[in-house]
Amino acid sequence: MRKKIVAGNWKMNTTIAEGKLLLDSVISQMPALASNHQVIFCVPFTQLFVANEIVNQSSKHNIFLGAQNCHDKAAGAFTGEISIPMLTEVGVHSVIIGHSERRQYFGESNTFLKAKVDALIAANKQILFCCGEPLQVREANTQNEYVTAQLKESLFHLSPETFMQHIVIAYEPIWAIGTGVTASTEQAQEMHASIRHLLAETYSAEMANEITILYGGSCNGSNAKELFSCADVDGGLIGGAALKAELFLPIIQALA
Ligand code: PEP
Repeated sequence: MRKKIVAGNWKMNTTIAEGKLLLDSVISQMPALASNHQVIFCVPFTQLFVANEIVNQSSKHNIFLGAQNCHDKAAGAFTGEISIPMLTEVGVHSVIIGHSERRQYFGESNTFLKAKVDALIAANKQILFCCGEPLQVREANTQNEYVTAQLKESLFHLSPETFMQHIVIAYEPIWAIGTGVTASTEQAQEMHASIRHLLAETYSAEMANEITILYGGSCNGSNAKELFSCADVDGGLIGGAALKAELFLPIIQALA
C-alpha cells in the first residue's frame, strides 16, 4: 500500500527551546497513525540531537526525524556543510533534497542533486525529493516539461526497486510556496497524475502506483483535506503551517 506522509519543513526557524515545545506539543496531541502513514519533522540542524530524543521517547509510531539538506561527500573541506554520517549519528531518517529555496538561493543543479540522491541511498535514507515550477513556467503552460526534466536528471538513473524503496516526490509549485496562494485541487491532481504517468512510462505502472507524491505550497488546515483527497496526492510537505501545533495538527488529521 502507498505510504501517506505529512512532513513539516521548519526551514531556518525556531530556537532549540522553541522547537522542543513545538515538537512536544504536536506529538502529545497527534492521533495514532495508520501503519502506512508517516509524520516527519524536518527541523534545523542544531535541533536534531534533542528532537531525536523526543521522537525516540514517544510511544507513538511512524514519527520520523528529517533534515533539510546534506552534502554528498562523507567528510572533507566543505565549510558550513553537513554530511550524511553526521545526520545518521543524530537519528535522521529522511532528508529533503532539491527544495526550491536550495535550488534558487544556493544554485543547486539537477546534477548536484543527483549526487546527493546517490549518497543518501547508499546511507539507506528516505529522500523527500522536491520539484516544481516557477510562475513564468506555469504561465507559459510548460510546467510538465519543467518538472519532467527535474525528475529525469536527478532520479531516473535509479532502478525501480531503489526508487520505490527510497524516493518520495514532493511537488511544490514555487509560486505557491510561502505565498498563501495554494494550487487548486485540479492543478495539484493534474501535475501529480502527470508525474505518475511519467513514472509508469519510464518504469512500470506497478512501480508508479507505489510512489508517494506529496503536495507542497501554502497547504493548511483548511485546504489539506481536499488536497489529500485527490487520487494522486499522498500527503503534504508543509512549511509555514508546520511552525504552530494548532496549525500542523489539522493537517496531520487530514491524512486519515
Ligand atoms: C515549503 O517550503 O516546502 C512549503 C511548502 O512552504 P509553505 O507551506 O510555507 O508554502
